[in-house]
This record gives sequence, C-alpha cells and structure tokens, in this order.
Amino acid sequence: MQLSELLAQTTKLLTQISALNESDILLLQEVLREHNRLYYTEQSPIISDREYDILFQTLKNLEEKYGIWDSNSPTKRIDVLVSNQFQKGLHASQMISLDNTYDENDIIDFEGRIRNILKSDETLVYAMELKFDGLGLSLTYRNGELVKALTRGNGVEGEDVTINALQIVSIPRHISFTSKEVEIRGEVVLPISEFMRINRERMETGEKVFSNPRNAASGSLRQLDYTITASRKLAFYAYSFPYAETEEGRGELKIQTYRDYLSLLESFGFTKTPYIFSAANIRELQAEIHRLTLNRPVFDFEIDGLVIKLNNLTLWNTLGTTEHHPRYAIAYKFPATNVRTKLLSIEHSVGRTGIITPVAILEPVNVGGVTVSRATLHNYDELAKKGVMEGDQVFIVRAGEVIPEVIGPIIEVRDGTEKIITPPITCPSCGTFLVQDIGKVALYCPARATCPAQTSGALKSFAGKHGANMLTLGDKIIDIFIEQGFLTDFVSIYHLREYSSSIIALEGFKQKKVDNILESIEASRDIPLASFFVALGIPQVGRKTGKLLAKYVSEKIGERGLGDILFHLTYEELEQIHDVGPATAGSIVYYFEENREMITKLLYEVHPTFTSMQKGESEEVFLRFTGKSFCVTGSFEGISRDQIHELIELNGGEVRTSVSAKLDYLIVGNDAGSKKTKAEELGVKILDLEELYELIGE
Ligand SMILES: [Zn+2]
Repeated sequence: MQLSELLAQTTKLLTQISALNESDILLLQEVLREHNRLYYTEQSPIISDREYDILFQTLKNLEEKYGIWDSNSPTKRIDVLVSNQFQKGLHASQMISLDNTYDENDIIDFEGRIRNILKSDETLVYAMELKFDGLGLSLTYRNGELVKALTRGNGVEGEDVTINALQIVSIPRHISFTSKEVEIRGEVVLPISEFMRINRERMETGEKVFSNPRNAASGSLRQLDYTITASRKLAFYAYSFPYAETEEGRGELKIQTYRDYLSLLESFGFTKTPYIFSAANIRELQAEIHRLTLNRPVFDFEIDGLVIKLNNLTLWNTLGTTEHHPRYAIAYKFPATNVRTKLLSIEHSVGRTGIITPVAILEPVNVGGVTVSRATLHNYDELAKKGVMEGDQVFIVRAGEVIPEVIGPIIEVRDGTEKIITPPITCPSCGTFLVQDIGKVALYCPARATCPAQTSGALKSFAGKHGANMLTLGDKIIDIFIEQGFLTDFVSIYHLREYSSSIIALEGFKQKKVDNILESIEASRDIPLASFFVALGIPQVGRKTGKLLAKYVSEKIGERGLGDILFHLTYEELEQIHDVGPATAGSIVYYFEENREMITKLLYEVHPTFTSMQKGESEEVFLRFTGKSFCVTGSFEGISRDQIHELIELNGGEVRTSVSAKLDYLIVGNDAGSKKTKAEELGVKILDLEELYELIGE
C-alpha cells in the first residue's frame, strides 16, 4: 500500500470509526499491520499514537463483537492469561555484558588485544550496530514456541516476565526453528514518543514521571497488570542467539558471519535492526564511529552508543570470553548525554552587560536525570550556522554541569511549519537599536545606562552579597524601584533617600523597612575594594580577580586618588598580575575607559576600603545577636529566607533549623505552620520581620 493511500484509508476509517462493522475488520487489520511496520521497522509513523490506539481498540472491539479469532490479527497478542508472574528464573548461560569505552581510540587497543590472541595479520572485518539503551531480555523457544521470557536481572538469574513479553508486538510467539530448545536475547526499548506520552499522562494524574525511557521500559515490562504492558508500545530487538554461536549451530544453520546471524533472526520474525554497518577494516570502522559521534543517528529510541563485533563467527569461538566480557565485541558509548526535543521558541535574553543571547525554550526533556527546558545557542552567528528553526526537533546536549546546549536541528523530520529565526533589530528590553561591533559576533544593546534589563541585572549584582552586600535591598525591591523610576544606575542607589516618602507610600513598605533599606545602603559606602570591583560587574572579573585587582591597586595608592589609578590602568601592567589573563586585563582597561564618568560620580558616593575592617570595630557595629539563636519559618515578601539567615548571622546570631525550648526567637513570615505552633507551646519568643528589623535597629 502506498503511504498516501494508507493515510487516506486510515483517515477514512477514523472519521467513520463508530459506524465500522464486521466488513471493515480485514481492512483494519491490514491498515494496523502497515502502521506497525512503519512504527517499528521504518521508525517513521505517519499517524499519532492516539490515532493508532483508536484504530487498535476499535479492531479489538469488533473482533470480540463478531467472535472472530484470527491468529494473524495485530490484536492477537493481547488475549493471554496471567500466570507465574515474576518468579525468578535461571538463565541457561550467564548473560554477560559487553566491555565498553567512551574513547574512540580504544577501538585500536581492542583490535590489538584480539591480534595478540590470534597471532595473525589477517585483516579483521567488523559489524557495527546500535547500542540501545533498554532492558535486556532472554526468550526461550521450545519446538519453535515462546515458552519463557526472563529479564536480564543480575545476568545469572532474572524475573519471569513471559506473560508481559507476549504483549510486545515485535516478539514473535513462534519461530521457524523447531529442532532444539533455544534462547534468543535482545533488548526491550520504549520509543521516546511513547515515553513522553506516558509521562504526560502520569503528570496529569499526579504520578511520578519516569526519568528516562529505559526506566519506563523496565516499568512497563515488569507490570503485574499485563494490559498495561500491552498498552505501551514496547519494542524488542534481538541481537543474540547463543546456539548459532556454537560450532554445531553454525553448521546446522549454515551461517558464517554476524551479518548472516542477524538475517537469520530477521527470518524468524524479529525486527530488523534499523542500522548495521560492515567495516572491511579497522580504519573504516573508526571513520564511521567518528562520523556517528558527530552526527548522531536519529531514531525514536534512546541510543547510547554503538556495538562493534567481529563479523567472522569462527573467531568468536577462538577468542571466547573473559570472566566478564566477550573478547570479540566491544561497546562504544557516545561521549555526552544527548537527547531530542522540540524547540518551541527563542527568547532573546539581555545580559547585564547588554549582550543579547538567543536562548532556546524547549519542550521539557530529561537529560541525564535533569529536566531541561532551556538551552543556550550562544550567539546569532552560531544560531545561523546551525540552521535551527522555531518548531524544529533538535538534539540538545548537557555535558557535565554546563548549561545545556542546542546541538542542531533534525532536518529530516521537518513538516513545513517551522519558522526561521531572525536576530532582533531592537533591544527586547528597551527598544534601542542593537549594535554589532565589526569583527565581533556579539549583538548588544548600547543603552547601558537606560536599558532596564541591563540596569536590573547590574543593580542586583551590585547590591548582591558578593558586591555591596545590601541585604535589605533584595532583587524584588530593586525591580519595584526601577519600575517606579527611583533607581536608574549605581549612583542612584545612594540617592534613594530622596524618594523616602514616595517609597513609604508604596504598598508593603513601612517606615521601618525603608529605614533598614537605607541603612544597608549607607553601610555599603565603606565597601571593601575587592567587593567594589565585583559589584561593578566588570566582564571577566569575579571574586578571585576582584581580590587580585584590589591588592594590586591598594599597593599603588599613595598620592594619587583611586579614580586616577583606575583610569590609567594599562593592559601591560594588569597582565603582569599573577592569574590575570590577557582577556581579563583587556576587559578591565576597557571597562574603566568606557565608564569613566559613571565611576567618577560613584566614587563621590562610595569610599572603598583597602584593608578588611578590624575585628574590634566590626564587633561593635554588628554583633547585636551574639549568643542568641534564631529559626526562620514561612515566606517573606522582598527578602528570601536565606537573606534573613545572613542578616542574623551578620549580626552575630546563630541560625537553627528546628524549634526547641532552647531557641531564643522564631521569625515568622506568611503561612508559618507547625514551627509556630510548637514555638507557642514551648514559650519561644515569636517575631515578625518588622520586629526583627527593629531588634537590629536598637
Ligand atoms: Zn536595551
């Protein structure tokens, strides 16, 4: 059947679904068989899972209604009875795993080890297939009938999941090999699309979602209710037929190579592996591994690498196995966690230095145990190079702890609805025309002083704990003050007092709260020089470089003022500072050149200190809470619990996480629960945030 005809037939059946009768059964069977083939063999279904399920269920209902039992029907695997669920069973021979490597070059060593044993220079031919990330399963056929299915388990003993295995469409119930009781091994995998569907359903019903398709495959196969297994489109790929590996088996079956072996499995009715590569020698093998590492093959199954086997089965016997692994095969694992998802849209994000970064907003997807919904595209140059479009299926990768990154689009599956992504012309935050320096890739908003996105990011970082450390001027408050026009730049922070009466008029800002904000601003005028450099947000200058720079600058302080030194810093001298690289040195020089006017004004307001405060002084100023313990519960507006903890600790108090009779104060916010009740029972003094501020102010 032509695909267009199949789709037309399918659509017709679906539109008349409730009117179908006995005369439609044969057509339904044929259509479903075709969709199964497309789904399992071709990996390119042309209808949705939902549509498939409707057709399947309708056929099943009609067959029941008209009492039709057709062993060729795609529904036939459903009607089996439950028995011997999850008894333990011993494997006929141990299911050992393959040796594996993440290093492409280890393949050379692999061949070297083989040559050492064979003591031969003959060219070795390889077969390479996909490494499915699924669940190992062993099937036993007696007189050609499937009689037992055991999970891999620990390799020696597995769980009997025979009833469940019978629900998997791609596991044949009969094979055309009847002379012996034989075992066939392979991998049960769950299509990624099915994995996402199951998780969506589980999310809707409040169940815990599966963290990856392999876990979901395992959970779907090892079900006490086999109808659940049947409802999930598990697939099975056979890759091992131990009898065929014996000398006797090779003779009887007339097979010489692993390719023959796979053809044999296919002739038994097992699904053809979607990818198989023959390498005439190790160089061809390496080239193909390298190609696939750079261009991951696309399937609806999770693939975590490649399996390489010697093609000549005679050599398998010669080489044998070690205690843990066969010597004739090795698994190569792809280097980083790589998954496929849909790119929903692009967010043009304005950084605090004005650089616009394209951020991919993704359909949430699990990458190595973490749910990812955003990934960076770095810059518009790279976006253009990758040719990513909105609505594309994309591969993303999350290697180690770095921010997930979009690898590229899967062009083959585009359906014409994808949209081209163009870089913005104006700043998404302030509307200013964006600028791109000649020879540079970064697109940026030049309105440093007036762009809200830059102001907000810069001010939050300035007031943050590694900067000016204004504990009571939190992120939410900064955003409110920017919106009100009270804050526009660093200098404006030190003029906030002028807006006192307007601030008090705002909802949620009482006198005490405002006083506390203004006090922490006043206190920050004596900012340590290292913190001052961090607060400015000079690109490439973090806490470590801030300290190095402060040390260097403080040594130069004498007759000259701080501004005078900063504005005359040279690239050459900064590069001499140990641990300051050329890019950082350049960034520092450029920053002070560009921001001379702003820094000059700011230095009227703040007076950076060159050495840390003496202990005696600081005790007098801060340690009001020495010897007192505090516990904080509930939620607070404009300040996080962590910030309150810091405030308490800064004042010498001790933070506790639970309420006991020894606790001095419980600080309660909104929705305070059991801790408040307990404190009341124990007679612990309870304070709200206002009262805590008052205590600090005393
Ligand atoms: Zn802007």
